[in-house]
Amino acid sequence: MNVLLASSEVHPYSKTGGLADMVGALSKALARKGHRVGLVTPLYTGIRERFDLRSRPDLPIDLPLGMRRVAGEIWTREPEENLTLYFVDQPEFFQRAELYQKDGVDYADNAERFTFLSKAVAHLAAHLDWKPDVLHLHDWQVALAGLLVQHQRQLPAWSHLPAVVVTIHNLAYQGLFPDYQFALTNLPWDYFNPAQAEFYDKFSFLKSGLTSAHIITTVSPRYAREIMTEEYGCGLDGLLRLRQHSVAGILNGVDYDEWRTTGNEFLQYSYTQSDLTGKLKEKQALQAELGLPDRPDTPLFGNIGRMVEQKGVDIMLGALESMLTEDLQVVILGSGSPLFQSRFQDLAARFPNKLRVQIGYNSGLSHRIEAGSDFFLMPSRFEPCGLNQMYSLRYGAIPVVRRTGGLCDSVIDFQDNAASADGIKFTEYSSQALAKAMQKALAIFHDPQLLQHYRTNGMTVDFSWERTADGYLTHYADAVLACNSGQK
Ligand code: ADP
Repeated sequence: MNVLLASSEVHPYSKTGGLADMVGALSKALARKGHRVGLVTPLYTGIRERFDLRSRPDLPIDLPLGMRRVAGEIWTREPEENLTLYFVDQPEFFQRAELYQKDGVDYADNAERFTFLSKAVAHLAAHLDWKPDVLHLHDWQVALAGLLVQHQRQLPAWSHLPAVVVTIHNLAYQGLFPDYQFALTNLPWDYFNPAQAEFYDKFSFLKSGLTSAHIITTVSPRYAREIMTEEYGCGLDGLLRLRQHSVAGILNGVDYDEWRTTGNEFLQYSYTQSDLTGKLKEKQALQAELGLPDRPDTPLFGNIGRMVEQKGVDIMLGALESMLTEDLQVVILGSGSPLFQSRFQDLAARFPNKLRVQIGYNSGLSHRIEAGSDFFLMPSRFEPCGLNQMYSLRYGAIPVVRRTGGLCDSVIDFQDNAASADGIKFTEYSSQALAKAMQKALAIFHDPQLLQHYRTNGMTVDFSWERTADGYLTHYADAVLACNSGQK
């Protein structure tokens, strides 16, 4: 099958979160299965300097964007057989310090930037000589391309346009803009209605994609069910319920080429489930790196992620208040809301021998935290999939998670199945419930046999991309069938 994917971030070229990991790994897994894969993404600052790219004057980009025309260039890279990256080079839009915002505030021209990106995606989908069968769009930044392709399909000039699949990585981010920005699309205003691009008088990028997609997917089965409820549906639950037969949840995979405990460039020591000596050394190395007391027998909890409400940072702050009086250590890496950042830093100042908070983004340290931790905290309010809990399973850091979305689908609690238990789950969204789950973690830590049981289960569970890629291929086939039968 020929598949063109599009995403505003792709690991290892650009990344702010799990979207980049997922798209980078899915494209690789599909190509390794022998499919022809393309992946469109912006050429951000620094990519050309770090990677060898080829200029492609044969793929000119010169597109209407509302009242003006905007030109760009395409650069390509073929990191492996069957896989081509198409970087959209438009310096005015993409040569910036950060991907989406500055100092926590979204760029004022994000509607222009991502309409242009979506147009470039739709343009490539129509013009690439290898003719994609499926266009797979990831999140709101490129979702508009679905509507653009749907519009092209009505025009007599086009005979082969791909079926459209849209994946929701996080329904809380929809790309909502004032209605007048719809003019940037140069589409007829007929499309601006509540069954297509309009969401309560606003122009919605994600809704434009969801309503024009043949198949909608999200990144875990449980989140697929959750987003059809009012509580998690972010106003789109009605639309998703209407289309429930075209909505599927596929649990993300882990790229074990990168997330591994042997021969990992970011780790000093290697280890496996049958020999955890290297893990203990990583723990001591982490304590030394962050200036925590060298305490191999003290349980160490890690946490990595965006410091935003979704991630449950408020209940984590509350739980730590009570738990930091116990014999334990906690290491937190992340950035986000300035208020949460400073509350964590204040807490760390009060417990200097127990809590370290690193504000910022640091890939190497994220691997060392997974390796050096005994437990990994993910108390999210909601979690479409979550990758860190799956990384932590492989690294022997037992995840402590809230029973929601992909966290619930990927972690097995003692109550779910004692024999294959690999993590601790709690249900109620409260500091008390999280603290209680951390107490259970302490009990496991002090029972070496039980600790080994959890670790072995977690380190051997397999979330490899094979399975996930097969899931997507099934849905691609369904999308092509729906497209050929004239739906959308
Ligand atoms: P989300 O996509 O909602 O941010 P995920 O758990 O799906 O959450 O994925 C987050 C990804 O981003 C993981 O690979 C995680 O290690 C990485 N990450 C998040 N914050 C940081 C950080 N401050 N430093 C390094 N890596 C980070």
